[in-house]
Amino acid sequence: MVQAKTWILKQHFEGFPKDCDFELKLEQLSEPRDGEVLLEAVFLSVDPYMRPFSRVRMQAGDVMIGTQVAKVIQSNNPSFPVGCHVVGRCGWRTHTMSDGSDLIKVLDDWPQDVSLSHALGAIGMPGLTALYGLEEVCAIKPGETLLVNAAAGAVGSVVGQIAKLKGCKVVGSAGSDEKVAYLKELGFDQAFNYKTVPSLEEALKNASPEGYDCYFENVGGHFSSVAIPQMKAFGRIAVCGGISLYNDTTPQTGPYPHLHMIFKQLKMEGFLVGRWEHKNKESLKRMLTWMQEGKLKCKEHFTVGFENMPAAFMGMLKGENIGKAIVKI
Ligand code: NDP
Repeated sequence: MVQAKTWILKQHFEGFPKDCDFELKLEQLSEPRDGEVLLEAVFLSVDPYMRPFSRVRMQAGDVMIGTQVAKVIQSNNPSFPVGCHVVGRCGWRTHTMSDGSDLIKVLDDWPQDVSLSHALGAIGMPGLTALYGLEEVCAIKPGETLLVNAAAGAVGSVVGQIAKLKGCKVVGSAGSDEKVAYLKELGFDQAFNYKTVPSLEEALKNASPEGYDCYFENVGGHFSSVAIPQMKAFGRIAVCGGISLYNDTTPQTGPYPHLHMIFKQLKMEGFLVGRWEHKNKESLKRMLTWMQEGKLKCKEHFTVGFENMPAAFMGMLKGENIGKAIVKI
């Protein structure tokens, strides 16, 4: 028998999540049956999507949704021998019994010197989001100018670096001077702190007076209203996220983008990373190669201890992370 710790969504979030919305519960797991494996969490991811998804995919009392890197500690499934590492949508749990159907083995040739935690970040879902948003949605071309917000985060920091690899000019915004310094270190052409610039409109204009070909949208709301008018004709907007809206209790309203969209003939497309799942293996290998060649640098923001999952999640929503927010067991 193994005792699993789990974090439950005690009640649906109203506005910004609070400690009392979560509850730590214990669960007894027995031996794996035929075809099953017992997993032990090593790294857990806290991601912005958990906030909007909790409303539509979860009921009060459910284990919080989420992905983790886990080690197989008991196995009755030959596809997942004891000792191998998997990425699984197990939720916020220290131990999970799985029939293997929801597990993906970490790439066979994962290098010894790359932390497995990156399988939740640049060499995982956030990295793929960055890649597909740029290649599949924006269809970005060398020489173009890209704008990305939440640029020092898990997705944004990869977006900017891939766009640089593709020969683009990259402008990024982030919420602290330390983050702005990091973006410059990563090779962003222009970066600014959206919280302290006197005018967001002026900051965007100064960073690229000729406007933007592509806009990788992570934030939405006010930022979006100011950025869209600065797109070039035939610009493309990849709507990846809208984190400035996730905790709203009353929906934000306009200004509305229609006239800019029409007169500049802009293309705006929302997307979910899962659309290109069939390309994931090849894409992850491509990004792992970039990382090993030193072309893709990825900071991680670690919180230690399963008991600190809610704090890590709320901290990420507040912007405490540079790079990928991870909980280490
Ligand atoms: P990050 O690592 O970027 O962490 C979230 C960041 O958002 C914070 O660090 C903070 O940075 C910023 N932020 C928080 N509140 C606000 C606000 N009110 N205004 C502006 N910025 C804010 O998270 P991810 O990289 O994992 O995710 C980035 C975006 O991508 C999210 O919107 C997420 O939902 C989306 N996403 C979409 C996917 C898809 O398939 N469509 C898949 C994965 C992610 P700062 O200090 O700069 O404010």
